[in-house]
Amino acid sequence: MSGFDLLVRGGLLVDGTGRPGRPADVGVAAGRLTVLAPGEAPRTGAAEVIDAAGRVVSPGFIDVHTHSDGVTLLGPSGGSRLVRASVLQGVTTEICGNCGSSLFPALPERLPAMRAETRITFGGGVGAYADFAGFAAAHARVPRANHLASLVGHGTLRAGVLGPVDRPARPDELRTMCALLDASLAQGAAGLSTGLIYTPGSYAGTGEVVALAAVAARHGKPYVTHLRDEMSRVEEALEEAIEISRRSGAALHVSHHKTAGRYAWGRTERTLPRIAALRAEGMDVTCDVYPYTAGSTALAAMLPPWANDGGLGALTARLGDPAQRDRMRRAIAEGVPGWENTVGNGGWDRISVACAPRHPQAEGRTIADLAASADADPLDMAADLLVAEAGEVTIISHSMVEEDVRRVLAAPYAMIGSDGVPKPGGRPHPRWAGTFPRVLGRYVRELGLLRLEEAVHKMTGMAAARFGLTGRGVIRDGAHADLVVFDPATVADRATFTEPLLPPAGIDAVVSGGRVVVRGGEETGARPGRVLAL
Ligand SMILES: [Zn+2]
Repeated sequence: MSGFDLLVRGGLLVDGTGRPGRPADVGVAAGRLTVLAPGEAPRTGAAEVIDAAGRVVSPGFIDVHTHSDGVTLLGPSGGSRLVRASVLQGVTTEICGNCGSSLFPALPERLPAMRAETRITFGGGVGAYADFAGFAAAHARVPRANHLASLVGHGTLRAGVLGPVDRPARPDELRTMCALLDASLAQGAAGLSTGLIYTPGSYAGTGEVVALAAVAARHGKPYVTHLRDEMSRVEEALEEAIEISRRSGAALHVSHHKTAGRYAWGRTERTLPRIAALRAEGMDVTCDVYPYTAGSTALAAMLPPWANDGGLGALTARLGDPAQRDRMRRAIAEGVPGWENTVGNGGWDRISVACAPRHPQAEGRTIADLAASADADPLDMAADLLVAEAGEVTIISHSMVEEDVRRVLAAPYAMIGSDGVPKPGGRPHPRWAGTFPRVLGRYVRELGLLRLEEAVHKMTGMAAARFGLTGRGVIRDGAHADLVVFDPATVADRATFTEPLLPPAGIDAVVSGGRVVVRGGEETGARPGRVLAL
């Protein structure tokens, strides 16, 4: 029984399957786990011991929805507080490449333009790679504490073949997209993601996505989608996703499921029963959710799709033209068929600036408030800000109600994803630093919405099964040694909209790839993480 590199002793084992917790010790040797009855391990014989008395020992959390694609590639100047936030909340695997935006793939001749057009690389804007192997190789050069897997983003794929243009793909272009997707999935990408509210993904019709999802289906990998509308037309958008899944044969995963904007509040009472009925029929459909009533995205996404046609340069040129601004103002007031229109569903008073590097004084304030102070029209205020920031402004949208968030969290097929957007500067959404402890503190301990074992399952075993993370997400003999040790009595998020990167309380230790990467709530400096080829 000796020879463990690490022994986690005396904790309550919550193994990630959803089964009730039980007292057990966990040994780690050569990056793999052994489950031991209490007291079975000798007092000596492990190189390192974590005393977990009074604590829960669970599998490392799997954040199924991040935009952290490039954050570690930014280097030390990129802000290590940003990088740290994820592992300090217990996340041992991040799944990036969401919402149609990944750092690959693209045709070689499109790569220089892709690198210039940073907005499509929502997750950092540090480059673009020809395929998953190129992405993985770039990451392999930068040590990291936890693991990273990536989906193939449809928007990136489309821009990497057609450019950021508003037109259907020609048959030959669609074939090229399918081939690039196929290659990256074969190399280990986790599945296909779309962001059908974002340009250029929004320029694609249903048929294009069906063709691509069929490629994912052939690899046994899921179709993961930010629906075309999460507001007044959310049910139609869900039906489109169901159609894509049925016609392609790919499993369906709905990203950050929400029914946002005043016309859609309460609509989870219809979307969730619809998903439950499909599951009862045998369809493989799941979703993820973050535990906040506010979302975060790009300010440019508040403008109609035609405004973004041609990319950032074209957008800022249009914003310089008063006649074009009037067209945008009218589109927001009247709506555009097939466009989500966040501001029309909510108002500029629900949109606050999260990150505008050249205008830090605007951060934390709403567009309506900024406009009122300047005696300006809100659309003009947003347009001026976008022009001054070369199109790159991140916003927070206070668009949901708590009842919907709770209903989605409680759905038995909903897993947890932070949707974190770790960009340097500004005040990012606190979900990047607080999501997992917030579920465990607020929704398990304080509100009793979920049992502890159920919540841990959503963060671990359920997520691993969805994304094919073999040997992760569960604690059993031979599994990968990714663990979290937390205090169920104190675990809580501390990150807020004003202090968005404050580390949580109660996450004592995190083990990644068999090494202790967090101890006493602080990073140890170990960097055993790697890119996972699935
Ligand atoms: Zn999204």
